Amino acid sequence: MCLPLGGQSSPEIEGVVPVSSASAHERGHVGVHQPIATACGKMRTHFYVRASCVGPLTMAIDPQFNENREKVGEENGVSVWGPVDEPEQLGIRGTHVAVDYDLCIADGACLEDCPVDVFEWVDTPGHPESEQKAEPTHEAQCIDCMLCVDVCPVDAIDVDASRSE
Ligand code: SF4
Repeated sequence: MCLPLGGQSSPEIEGVVPVSSASAHERGHVGVHQPIATACGKMRTHFYVRASCVGPLTMAIDPQFNENREKVGEENGVSVWGPVDEPEQLGIRGTHVAVDYDLCIADGACLEDCPVDVFEWVDTPGHPESEQKAEPTHEAQCIDCMLCVDVCPVDAIDVDASRSE
């Protein structure tokens, strides 16, 4: 389904209400409210059309970050991949399940949809994209279903069980 920029829904889609998200719109994303069932049986009430459908491509997490970045520490048992310059630049968190905090807009779809509750909210006051991030706190529980990768509206998540530190 493609929606034009500006959040207007297609006339043939009944009950779809555009989501008003300044951050998402700045990035060229369009969101809609509509209850939908996910593969794991949970209901979601909103989703986003990817930038490639409605406008210019945005940045996405680098799946080779473990080769292109340095691990600079750990937080809550989760690896931190730099560069980090808090509070504006937070790097990538996690290895098997990795979240680029500098892209994350705290949409929350990954927390809602993960069937094994890998993610927890952490506060990131002062970050320009969002003041909360989805931390892959329990990445060891991941079953590689890829739901979080599919639902993230800004492509901030990558999952690869073979990735090493
Ligand atoms: S790929 Fe892993 S972290 Fe992502 S939704 Fe599935 S189980 Fe959760």
